[in-house]
Amino acid sequence: MGLINQNSRLGVILIVSGPSGTGKTTVCTRVREEMPELKFSVSCTTRAPRAGEQHGKDYYFLSREEFKRRIDNGEFIEYAEVFSNYYGTLKSEVIDRVKCGEDVFLDIDIQGAMQIRQCSQQDPLLGNCCEFIFIAPPSLEELEARLRNRASDSEEQIMQRLGKSKLEISYWKHYDYLVINDMLDAAVEDMKSLIRMTRKATKRLEEGLFNV
Ligand code: ADP
Ligand code: 5GP
Repeated sequence: MGLINQNSRLGVILIVSGPSGTGKTTVCTRVREEMPELKFSVSCTTRAPRAGEQHGKDYYFLSREEFKRRIDNGEFIEYAEVFSNYYGTLKSEVIDRVKCGEDVFLDIDIQGAMQIRQCSQQDPLLGNCCEFIFIAPPSLEELEARLRNRASDSEEQIMQRLGKSKLEISYWKHYDYLVINDMLDAAVEDMKSLIRMTRKATKRLEEGLFNV
């Protein structure tokens, strides 16, 4: 018999946020390709799909009525209204997976992350499993350039997103880790190293890990 019992570890819940346009989706997509064992939490949203987005892969696209029904049913770990649409994380995307030792990645806004942060103070599973990562742009000028280059939002939406970004950046101190997305490859490497490191935390290891 080996010294270590396999499957004696809870998964990590990696909660990633940062201002819109920072490059969260881009960084997370690369991490997803390069760490295929990571599970991504597919969020619910009431916003319309963008070109190429698929229901069940990028988001679960719901009507406002359906979203509210799920709120009333207690199906979300967190939800928030972001830019006039609801977004939320389903318990079913996260809880059973981490109990089985799978690592789950959440790309959610700061309000949602702070809700989970608060719950994790009372809930031992969330308290042990959550790691909060903030992604920041190298400058506000670069953030604006990225929002414009993405060409997915109207001028009004771009101004709305930029207007929120200064306050959002000030939240970095409520997170456990900070990744600056300046050069994409370096940010992806930082994120991967950080994920590997969180897997070594003893607080998620269970009694009976060692066969001694
Ligand atoms: P978010 O998900 O944070 O709103 P996106 O991933 O949609 O941001 O990225 C916004 C835009 O910035 C996209 O056009 C993307 O290609 C670009 N981008 C992302 N990361 C970088 C980077 N490190 N350098 C330059 N452009 C980037
Ligand atoms: P987008 O519409 O550009 O895909 O996302 C807009 C914002 O909503 C991003 O900041 C993204 O992180 C956030 N978001 C996506 N899913 C969720 C979620 O489940 N909960 C919360 N609170 N925010 C989310």
